[in-house]
Order: sequence, then C-alpha cells, then structure tokens
Amino acid sequence: MDQIKIKNLKIFAHHGVYEQEKEQGQNFIVNAVLCTDIEKAGKSDNIEDAVDYGAVCLFIDAYMRENRFDLLEAAASHTAQELLLEFPAVKKVELEIEKPDAPIPLRFESVSVRVTKSWHRVFIALGSNMGERLKYLERAVSDLEEDICFRNIRVSDYIETFPYGGVEQDDFLNGVLEAETLYSPEELLARIQEEEEIAERKREIHWGPRTLDLDILFYDDLILAKKDLSIPHPDMKNRRFVLEPLAVLAPSFVHPVYRKTVADLLRELNER
Ligand code: AMP
Repeated sequence: MDQIKIKNLKIFAHHGVYEQEKEQGQNFIVNAVLCTDIEKAGKSDNIEDAVDYGAVCLFIDAYMRENRFDLLEAAASHTAQELLLEFPAVKKVELEIEKPDAPIPLRFESVSVRVTKSWHRVFIALGSNMGERLKYLERAVSDLEEDICFRNIRVSDYIETFPYGGVEQDDFLNGVLEAETLYSPEELLARIQEEEEIAERKREIHWGPRTLDLDILFYDDLILAKKDLSIPHPDMKNRRFVLEPLAVLAPSFVHPVYRKTVADLLRELNER
C-alpha cells in the first residue's frame, strides 16, 4: 500500500514514569508511516482526496500534549489508535516515539518504542438457539456497531438451521458478520466473549444449546493455532450454516489454509 512518512516530528510532552518527567516534561520525537491509498489524490490533485499530513502532525502533537502516559508503549499504542480513528483513510500506521532525554545515567542517543496498528478485516459467525434468538443476535450486532473499534459492519441474512454435533436441541438462527476492527485477535476473542456473557450464555453441554455463540472465522489472512484460539475457525468447511451466509458476504474471500474461495468451499460441501 502507498505510504506517507512523517520524520522527526518534535513534541514537548509529559510522559514518563518519574515525577520529574511528569512535572517538567521533555522532548519527544515522532516518526510515522501512514499506509493509505493515494491513487485518487494522485489523479485529482485535490487535498480533499488526500490524507492531510499537516493535520496528522497537528493531531499527534495535540494528542501527545493533552494526554499523559507513564510508558512510551502506552503513548505509542494510544496515539496510533486515535490516529486511525481520526483519519479513516489511513488503513495502517507505524508509529515510533523516541525519548532522546530519557532519564538514564549513561551516554546514549535515544530510546524509542515502535508500534504498528491497523484495521483488520474480520468475519464472525453468529448463532443462537435459545429464547428470543433474533434479539440475542441483534443485541450483539448493535453492541459491536457502537464499539469504536469496529467499522464498516455488514451482516448477512439470518438462516434457520438444524443443530450440528448430534445433541438434541432446538434449531439455530445463524448468520455472519463482516467488519473492520482495530482489535488484535486475542482482544477480539475477549470482546465477543463479553457479548456472549451479556447474553448470559452458559457453557454446559459441548455443542449444546446456547443463547449466543460468536466465533471468529477469519482475521485478514491470518493463520493462528493457539490453545484457546484457532483462526481460521476449524471445521468451517463442513458447516453449511457458516459457509452459506459467509458466501453471501464474501464469496471470493480466500481461505488462507485451503487456498480456496468461500464459494468453492460451499460448492464442495454441497457436492459431498
Ligand atoms: P464455542 O463453544 O464454540 O463458543 O467455543 C468457545 C471456545 O473456543 C473458547 O473458549 C475459545 O477460546 C475457543 N476458540 C478457539 N478458536 C476460536 C475462534 N476462532 N473463535 C471463537 N472461539 C474460539
């Protein structure tokens, strides 16, 4: 993706663990790489179509002066996140904050922390088969819509499906939500589990009835296999209730493990 680079922006601010740093303040130096598509601005030559790097510099300066963090890590993470929220055309930012006068009793040039934050395209499976199923699904969707760490949310139609996994229970209402998110995979898992808790979901029987079940299907083209989080969601290729609504939203999305599109996975499942 195209880039805009800001080099050595000097900011006087009050971040630091020590009282003296908080009171007196010191110089910080910020370097930023903004990833954005410049094609439109490149053609039109109109500032309205561009990310205004002057405005970005003023924003970073104001944010870093008006907020105080003990750690460079926190200053960098928060500033990067706020920048992405303020400038929607910036898809990804690499932000480095240097502290050339950090209180270290040795000779050194500078210390710095660098973070990368970006919007990620995610797909989340939604399911419910207890109580007011539609209400549970709609409540979760509207909560995520109100969360600033999500944008461009699209939801498939909900489909009535027969329970999967052999446990006798009521039919499910299933759908898929697509969004862009600022959450990391682990943060996203915690966020959707929060919604399951709001729906007072009880984990009693594996594959048993639930008021709300949210699963991360894809997170960009990430492949992750951790104890408590597998992405893409395993077994997706055998689940029509996932592939059907997913294929409505993103038929040409390529499964990063099988290297097949969602439409192909659904066709193969239907042919089996
Ligand atoms: P479930 O009963 O389907 O809601 O399973 C929930 C458990 O699956 C959670 O404890 C998660 O840690 C784990 N898990 C693993 N991968 C995923 C994923 N991609 N999305 C949601 N939960 C996952």
